Amino acid sequence: MTSERPVDGRGRSPASNRAAGQGRRGQPRVLELPPTITVQRLAELTDQTPIDVIKQLMRNGIMASMNQIIDYQMATLVTAAFGIRTSMAEPEAAVAAASASKSRPADDDSHLVTRSPVVTILGHVDHGKTALLDAIRRTNVAEHEVGGITQHIGAYQVETQGQQITFLDTPGHEAFTAIRARGSQITDIAILVVAADDGIMPQTEEAINHAKAAKVPIIVAINKMDLPGADPERVKRQLSEHDLLVEDWGGEIISVEVSARTGDGLDDLLQNIAVVAEVAELKANPDKPATGVIIEAKLDRRRGPLATLLVQDGTLKLGEYITAGGTFGRIKAITNDQGKSIKSVPPGAPAEILGLGSLPEAGDAFAVVDNERQARSMANDRAKTFSQQAQSRALTLEEVVNRTAAGDVKELNIVLKADVQGSVEAVRQALEGLTAEGAKVRVLHGGSGGITESDVLLASASQAIVVGFTVGTEPSAERLADRMGVPIRHYDIIYQLIDDISQALFGILEPVYTDVIIGRAEIREIFPTRQGVNIAGCRVTEGRITRGATVRVMRDGELLQESSIASLRHFRDEVNEMTNGSDCGIILQGFNDVEVGDILETHRQERGQR
Ligand code: GDP
Repeated sequence: MTSERPVDGRGRSPASNRAAGQGRRGQPRVLELPPTITVQRLAELTDQTPIDVIKQLMRNGIMASMNQIIDYQMATLVTAAFGIRTSMAEPEAAVAAASASKSRPADDDSHLVTRSPVVTILGHVDHGKTALLDAIRRTNVAEHEVGGITQHIGAYQVETQGQQITFLDTPGHEAFTAIRARGSQITDIAILVVAADDGIMPQTEEAINHAKAAKVPIIVAINKMDLPGADPERVKRQLSEHDLLVEDWGGEIISVEVSARTGDGLDDLLQNIAVVAEVAELKANPDKPATGVIIEAKLDRRRGPLATLLVQDGTLKLGEYITAGGTFGRIKAITNDQGKSIKSVPPGAPAEILGLGSLPEAGDAFAVVDNERQARSMANDRAKTFSQQAQSRALTLEEVVNRTAAGDVKELNIVLKADVQGSVEAVRQALEGLTAEGAKVRVLHGGSGGITESDVLLASASQAIVVGFTVGTEPSAERLADRMGVPIRHYDIIYQLIDDISQALFGILEPVYTDVIIGRAEIREIFPTRQGVNIAGCRVTEGRITRGATVRVMRDGELLQESSIASLRHFRDEVNEMTNGSDCGIILQGFNDVEVGDILETHRQERGQR
């Protein structure tokens, strides 16, 4: 059994048939609308109450709140009902982006400095991710004077050997991959926490696969070394079974034995992070306007939207205009991870900012721009892209494979879920055994159990499809897949699964086209018209001849000319098609030198399978 998500079918009536209303003085009123607009603003522009606008949207099957951004098409549904004609204003973002980049100095090497690495902690539940984050913070961050409480803003920095390290406060591969799925990569190093007494568990495997899919270097922290049952050698052996060879085992993966409880090994861990960061040569230019990613956002009742962001390049300064996802604003206050009010944020550092108009989402990119106008238009354009994405349907298998970068070997990425581990391995082996010349399957993650949100996120972040073998999809994962346009395919029979995927794999390869002859006609007489155009009087001798078809003019068995059929007549009537045995008159496009005895061959290119 295979199933593909249906195309999104939100019925929208074309607005144009009701759009030609009259304005106040009997003139049709033409309202210029931006590509995207909030419901409230649309109400203002149309002299209606927001409730009226919302009602109109509801009539068209669209549920929207007052601050929601809708696109031009949706807006026209409302304006049409109010008798207002509209036109779309040119998007300004392209102009804004161009001028934003013009005002930026180029990255010449003299501007580049080493920036702090950004670290995320991954691992199985209860293996001590939170405890480790807390222990590192406790032992390395000076507690803030006021009340002795460190501010939790979603990320914090610690210093080791004169170098700052930024830790993201939301551990786990779901958050990690959710940010990637929004198109941002912020983590430079992943710390994989494995409890020494428990060893590698299913979510450890997931975490490994998510980190590998993101191509992020991994450092293993073998935690809970204080417990009597701690067995680090077993953990190292298990790691080797997952292609992570630690240094003791002759590999290159750094592993550090730690205890979040006693604090043992934490310094060693920090030093190793610094080493890996040094190898990665993380550079940024502090002299240019900041760009980076939102890592958290929340609404403060008194102060409004608060967002924690991570500056990836440039320096962020108080008073600057920024856009983030679909929102924008001017930075009114900046607070660092210790609750201190600061004026600027260097690359690699996190900070909490105040001043955005609404809440951005974790993973949204932000950028500093010159002025409010640019900020607004860039935010508008982003919002438009999102609303288009929200309406997008799931991609087909073929579309997914076509999105994979054209390299030497094309890859079809798959996230695989099956009922039991045994079937996961069986299906994985069968899939990885599929070889087509120049294309292959890559199973990013294989696990037992139903399809979860984490699977969908991974697929979305890695342009993969999710394949479920005799398992279902959790409803929340189903909704997420819908929203993100991730294809999920279910199978109960292994050979159907293999068949489908191998078809897709062959589809990745450049298609083979073959030439197929559709019909032949022989020219028996020439009828010149008064305008000097030669009509070829033909008998169809094979197949059929259709108007518009491409045609080869053959003379004495050799190709004379490629053309197409401009006119096809049966007696005086222009017809679309003539079949074998019938007589017809043909005028060729751009070729008049036809002779009696010439053969006209209509043909087409057909996409074939290898
Ligand atoms: P998370 O789910 O990975 O974030 O795990 P937590 O940080 O919540 O830790 C799970 C449990 O393990 C808690 O009860 C912690 O107190 C305990 N724990 C964490 N680290 C250690 C450690 O190094 N030694 C011991 N003995 N217990 C730990």
